[in-house]
Amino acid sequence: MLDGCVPWPEEFAERYRAAGYWKDETLGEMLRARAREHGDRPALVAPRGSTRGSTRQTGRSTGPGAGRVTGHGQVTGPATGPRGEGTTGSDEAGWERLTYAGLDARADRVAAGLRALGIAPGDRVVVQLPNTAAFVTLIFGLFRLGALPIFALPAHRSSEITYFCEFTAATAYVIPDEDDYRHLAGEVLAKTTTLEHVLTEIPEADPADLPRPDPADVALFLLSGGTTGVPKLVPRTHREWAYSGRAVAEACGYDQDTVHLVSLPLGHNWPLTHGLLATLHAGGTLVLADGPSPDETFPLIESEGVTETGLVPGVALLWMEAAEWGEHDLSSLRRVTIGGSKLSDELAKRVEPALGCRLQQAFGMAEGLCGFHRPEDPPEVVLVSQGIPVSPADEMRVVDEDDRDVPPGEVGQLLARGPYTIRGYYRSPAHNAQTFTHDGFYRTGDLVRLLPTGHVVFEGRVKDQINRGGDKIAAEEVENHLLAHPNVRQVALVGVPDEVLGERSCACVVPRGEAPALPELAAFLRERGVAAFKIPDRLEIMTDLPLTPLGKVSKKALTAMVT
Ligand code: AMP
Repeated sequence: MLDGCVPWPEEFAERYRAAGYWKDETLGEMLRARAREHGDRPALVAPRGSTRGSTRQTGRSTGPGAGRVTGHGQVTGPATGPRGEGTTGSDEAGWERLTYAGLDARADRVAAGLRALGIAPGDRVVVQLPNTAAFVTLIFGLFRLGALPIFALPAHRSSEITYFCEFTAATAYVIPDEDDYRHLAGEVLAKTTTLEHVLTEIPEADPADLPRPDPADVALFLLSGGTTGVPKLVPRTHREWAYSGRAVAEACGYDQDTVHLVSLPLGHNWPLTHGLLATLHAGGTLVLADGPSPDETFPLIESEGVTETGLVPGVALLWMEAAEWGEHDLSSLRRVTIGGSKLSDELAKRVEPALGCRLQQAFGMAEGLCGFHRPEDPPEVVLVSQGIPVSPADEMRVVDEDDRDVPPGEVGQLLARGPYTIRGYYRSPAHNAQTFTHDGFYRTGDLVRLLPTGHVVFEGRVKDQINRGGDKIAAEEVENHLLAHPNVRQVALVGVPDEVLGERSCACVVPRGEAPALPELAAFLRERGVAAFKIPDRLEIMTDLPLTPLGKVSKKALTAMVT
């Protein structure tokens, strides 16, 4: 296994293999197997995206201008071969339709194209693409090659991307062919040392023989929601991540007739596993939208006959309001799945009548454990809980502050262990020692209680993190940036309840000299390359911050003051 990753103890690995959870299959082989079974069936309907099918590369220049994106990198020649093979069509608005055979062939071509550029098995590649066909063909090309994508979100800016590149010694960074991303890449190139390629288009070449990646090895990195500093990197291996997709597909009853629309950013764990991986595992059709707004998604539901989709609560609310207009036929939708942050019981009750389909709730985390309702779950369970784990081998404990199990039905911190829950973050031994128990349970930081049926009810968090409509903000990361402002003496970032997003962030600042205003702090954070969703929604100026008896800032008291 890749250096800096924590393997499962052999005893557990053996158990998961013997039970058939872990197969001797890479993610690239999973797609190949589907292509054999469902070659002519539609696999993908997606905006093509600016990043597609060519080999132009924006390289690191080595002369005096080093660190600038020049727009003229090494060119390895035009893509050759039957680009259209397996393409069932692409229309003028730039949509691409690929069959399973087509997607499989494209993945081979992309793997060969990446290799020809000099990207090698084991290399790390930061991927920051919107929901496009290019996203899907790229990642399967990387899986085939055995190069490791690190999934950045479209909202990440130079502060985050530079950290991902440096921390993983990434050699390539893939962005959309757009000015603002090229500008961002320029900033990143100026600050990093290992990055050799900035790709604005996906390279393709005639398929080549490539060594087979080890199914037990790391295939990709997801980002943790995180509570400290910048996001931690979550290494996921071929065989356990493939299993999580299979387990989700089975729990949700997906099959070839499933048409799943993903409109949340694919780089995020939830849409990636529940949407992309589970759907392709089941031989269904994956439909991608560039964003979740009803304007963009409702016409697609109608035209593609979408049966399933995943939403965060804030988006679900927008959809419910828009559905009242009745402008689009949403009758193909069989179910919507809502997760990522807590869906209030009140909103939950309105989903089925408003959208005319079943509600399923879900929870999950980049570290692994995820849960869904099952089709047979009764409404009284679906309305008040967030789901039940997908694997029979998932182990959950609900514990108090001393790691003792709380009595059944009481609230405590959720600990998780299982065949697709990691045993440690990448290169983080000190953090791992705190975040994992000695016997390998991940401390989720979530406060939950279990219903007698085993369903999980989310009750809040132990960790210092704000969940802004599914986007996780590590308070400490933003506080550190704000403390760099000359007029900020002390700061604490807290979450305040919000009807649409679940939570919004509020910066409580004790000023040094003249009190700063919110627009000024926002500009300051943007200047430092901080993602927009992390910029505080509110500012409260205070003379001091409330303290706990131990003298730590009391976020609990602070939250009560500003709510
Ligand atoms: P991420 O790793 O970004 O997917 O974030 C995982 C975290 O999101 C979990 O640890 C929870 O705190 C939160 N989360 C996910 N789904 C739900 C849900 N249905 N209800 C409440 N919180 C959720």
